[in-house]
Amino acid sequence: MPLVPTRQLMDLAVSAGRGQGAFNVLHLETVEALVRGAVDASCPLILQISQNCVAFHGGLEPLAAASLAVARAAAVPVALHLDHAEDEELAKRAVDLGFGSVMFDGAALAYAENVAATTRVVDYARSAGVYVEAELGMVGGKDGVHLGAHAPGARTDPAEAQDFVRATGVDALAVAVGSSHAMQERTASLDLQLIAALKAELDVPLVLHGSSGVPDQGLTDAIGAGMTKINVSTHLNGVFTHAVREFLAANPGTTDSRKYLGAGREALVPEVSRLLRLFAGSFSGALA
Ligand SMILES: [Zn+2]
Repeated sequence: MPLVPTRQLMDLAVSAGRGQGAFNVLHLETVEALVRGAVDASCPLILQISQNCVAFHGGLEPLAAASLAVARAAAVPVALHLDHAEDEELAKRAVDLGFGSVMFDGAALAYAENVAATTRVVDYARSAGVYVEAELGMVGGKDGVHLGAHAPGARTDPAEAQDFVRATGVDALAVAVGSSHAMQERTASLDLQLIAALKAELDVPLVLHGSSGVPDQGLTDAIGAGMTKINVSTHLNGVFTHAVREFLAANPGTTDSRKYLGAGREALVPEVSRLLRLFAGSFSGALA
């Protein structure tokens, strides 16, 4: 049941009124943990690799190849997505490599430029059947940069969003509704009325970025109000790193890097399962 097109998972989630988790890959150990968590939860998963992560690894191909290989061997449906590409060429390369979807992030551009660049990416992706996400109304905090008025006060205007979707032909839209990237505490509150207004206005699924800063109840409320793709990176990164730190504190003589990376990987699996079940609406445990 392996690698599937992102469109398939998004269509399923929309028709069922569920949220679909999309979690960031940082290195091979994250891919392994994310897929194991999805298998344990019997939930589909979107793996995503960001442009920042591509820069860290010095190229897209090695980590993409590893992610595709792990996805193909998975016992649940897994899609691969390129997250936050500001570079059009990178988005096109991901299409060529077999990604199921790409996000082109033109949110830092002026509106007309964002429309033009996004449309070029959509045209290229469409010929390969690849799904495209775009962003309108900057979701702040990426790269740890404080974007002043953009974060967390930025809001996507429903009428402008409708124009943007029609002009570009994008398949899904990341919207600014009160979350902000890279938050380490889960204290953000989302504008549920705006989510509902965007859902009513738009024919495409909505994507929540900066979900790490939102508590469980806020995320399920957002899904109930019409949010579909739920991107989580920082929160899961924190779970991994916390486990590595604890392992190294307890085992200061460790030299084999597999020992501490393995501890991070083990810790990630149950939290991935828990979040996927929460978004899918079948979670019945205590809220974290
Ligand atoms: Zn994002």
